Amino acid sequence: MKQVNSDFDIVVIGGGIAGIYTAWRLIMADKADPSNLKKWKKKSNLRIAVYEGSDRIGGRLLTATPPNFNSEMNCELGGMRFVSTQKYISSLVINKLNIDHPLQAVGEPINIIYMRRKLLRSYQLCDPDALPYNLTEEEKLALKSGGTTADNFLGWAVLKLLPGAAGLAGEELEQYLQTVIIDGTPLYEHGFWDLVSKVLSHEAYTIAIKAVGYDVLGSNTNAVNCITEYFDFTPTAQFYLIDGGYDVVPWTLKKQFEEAGGKVLTGKWMESFDEVQLEDKSKGVEMNFYKQSKPVNAAALILAMPQRSLELLRQTGPVMDPARAPQLRWMMNSVSPIGLFKMILVYDRPWWEKKAYVTRGRSLTDLPVRQLYYWGVEIDPKTGNQGKAVLMAYNDSESTTFWSGFRIAPSGPNDDDEWSGIEHPSHLMLHKNAVLFSRKNKPALQAAGGPKDPWFSLKRKNWDKHPAPKRMVDEMHKQIMEMHGVTDAPEPIDAAFKNWGDDPYGAAVHFWNSGYKSWEVMPAMTKPVNDFPCFICGEAWSENQTWAEGSLQTAEIVLQKHFGLSEPDWLSKKIK
Ligand SMILES: Cc1cc2nc3c(=O)[nH]c(=O)nc-3n(C[C@H](O)[C@H](O)[C@H](O)COP(=O)(O)OP(=O)(O)OC[C@H]3O[C@@H](n4cnc5c(N)ncnc54)[C@H](O)[C@@H]3O)c2cc1C
Repeated sequence: MKQVNSDFDIVVIGGGIAGIYTAWRLIMADKADPSNLKKWKKKSNLRIAVYEGSDRIGGRLLTATPPNFNSEMNCELGGMRFVSTQKYISSLVINKLNIDHPLQAVGEPINIIYMRRKLLRSYQLCDPDALPYNLTEEEKLALKSGGTTADNFLGWAVLKLLPGAAGLAGEELEQYLQTVIIDGTPLYEHGFWDLVSKVLSHEAYTIAIKAVGYDVLGSNTNAVNCITEYFDFTPTAQFYLIDGGYDVVPWTLKKQFEEAGGKVLTGKWMESFDEVQLEDKSKGVEMNFYKQSKPVNAAALILAMPQRSLELLRQTGPVMDPARAPQLRWMMNSVSPIGLFKMILVYDRPWWEKKAYVTRGRSLTDLPVRQLYYWGVEIDPKTGNQGKAVLMAYNDSESTTFWSGFRIAPSGPNDDDEWSGIEHPSHLMLHKNAVLFSRKNKPALQAAGGPKDPWFSLKRKNWDKHPAPKRMVDEMHKQIMEMHGVTDAPEPIDAAFKNWGDDPYGAAVHFWNSGYKSWEVMPAMTKPVNDFPCFICGEAWSENQTWAEGSLQTAEIVLQKHFGLSEPDWLSKKIK
């Protein structure tokens, strides 16, 4: 085997929150106690780098700021919030980084529930006579007696099947669910939809997923994980936004990491990796990047990437070659990709307030728009008058395929222009949806000082880089009018969207397939090949999938189990 000099001790591939957090924790641990990571060091100081393929750090956290607002209007095209019960992310944001985190308004009694072409208000979710669904007598009684509301039918069904789950959440709930056997079969072998259908009519199931907002929360994925995930969205859950946008979290970590001597290299897509022998005869990793002839060598490699990104790597070497590491292929198939889609629309005024009496939180519909957040309104600081206003449409699963039909380029592998590992035949990609919505830059009500945020220009760039096709905006506007019961409303003046199904992501989030024990696969996945220094972390194979919490959870397994770090001292022992 050839012998090479190492360029770094540890290389992290992927600058999403999992990757930048892992790199930040490592360099901070080395600063606190230089003996900490001596096993990995080939020189005196830890040499650590993050390689990211796109031109930005943040991955599936993507804050985008539209132009011409008199104060920052930070919109989230990716992740937007955390839940107080998520110990890693809430401790990081609150205890360590001291970032403000306003409470997010979600369910307001006056907000719209537009289902089967009937316009209801949220408070009517407990009125079986108002709901256009043919419920059983038992389900009607449960609503009338206050036993549940229609948006909580899934939780109601779970507690009928598993009364022992009452009052449990997070890790406690999951540990209990791991022990449950139903009809002689362990719970993890049940699909969630199959399970709730035992005690719920299809009508109740349908209104439940439509009114909870996410189709995937009723999907036939692993019942253990789906139930845990579902209880993140119970009516008592408290959601927090990040002041300045969620990108502030990875960007703050990046800043601190670089100040501590770490290197961040963007625009570097890794193509493949293999085994090499390093200068001290230890086993190392050689990484090859697209459009870069010289490989990079390190003592350890951390892949902080989701499922599709791993599939896009060349399937060679001791880890990725399925013939050499069949266990990795088996584990990679333990989760399924799930689509989530966001589109942000800017209007010249919040017409929905006067026409439909809704101002904050979210409205819901079974139209492909699905969830609509009243995201924010510009206020003139002198007169108090309202100006431009922002709506955020948010949908998943089947609805994302509806919106994908309006996308600019044909769908298929390697389709996002951010993924430049493989050249696009761009002259072949133009089709009828390629006409972009023409953004009309209406001036701000009052120019109010400069932006307060040091990352303002990056967030503005995020907005400009994510234009929406015209036909998509037209259809979205039509559906938004319909769900508010109006036939006429001012047209949008600006729009942005991001399709997370595009490569290299291949999905917005992931769910465990039934039949897999996530609690065994998750730790095994963090070091898929015993005698090779390659580690994997990220949301995809975590027990907090769909959340940044999952990225940090698996990052901590890599850090504590494989690099010997202690638990962070800023971690809240008691979850709020
Ligand atoms: C629409 C949407 C809404 C969401 N809502 C929430 C929410 O409200 N709250 C919440 O906590 N979470 C939410 N999530 C989930 C959350 O955003 C993710 O769990 C989290 O951001 C994933 O981070 P990660 O680092 O694990 O992976 P990623 O963010 O996917 O990072 C992977 C990185 O690797 C890079 N990469 C891939 N391949 C290569 C390669 N070959 N070479 C170099 N770089 C590569 C990618 O460019 C990317 O930057 C949401 C996600 C989406 C899409």
